[in-house]
Amino acid sequence: MPQSTESLCLACGLCCNGVLFGAVRVAPVAQPRLVSLGLTVVQRPDGSQRLLQPCPALQRSGERVSCDVYVDRPDACRSFDCLLARALHEGEVSLEEALAEVAEARRAVSSVEALLPPAAEPLSIEQRIAQVTAPHPSLTAAAASLRARLDRVFRGRQQR
Ligand code: SF4
Ligand code: SF4
Repeated sequence: MPQSTESLCLACGLCCNGVLFGAVRVAPVAQPRLVSLGLTVVQRPDGSQRLLQPCPALQRSGERVSCDVYVDRPDACRSFDCLLARALHEGEVSLEEALAEVAEARRAVSSVEALLPPAAEPLSIEQRIAQVTAPHPSLTAAAASLRARLDRVFRGRQQR
């Protein structure tokens, strides 16, 4: 990973903390190793396996984040580069501009979270939004704005 991309990801973590994705694909061959490292891998009805997000392996220290199982992280994590990381790698944005996008996305996440009830357990932001079943126009608007930002800046059509 190029130095500046690493600097960006160590200050971000949005693809691991349940904001961009609700789960990460895990190959069957990788499941025993992840379980031995203390992670819970769930099986979907179609037989595929997933590591739920927010990922328990994500560690935060001040403004920096890191992966506790970096060497053994799933292939879906290893191969993932968001649009912003790619743009930084290609020199289309500076590290400063990319970090500003992360800060802006975090603000958008906070705006949504401020409208949500406290979470009793770690859930992705989409799961938390889905728990609000009563009509909530402010939440609907904030969530739509957040999704549009995440798609445009980070996710594109990618799954993880
Ligand atoms: S969302 Fe992009 S910039 Fe943020 S940690 Fe993931 S790959 Fe890195
Ligand atoms: S295993 Fe590591 S890289 Fe993958 S989602 Fe968890 S914290 Fe992120």
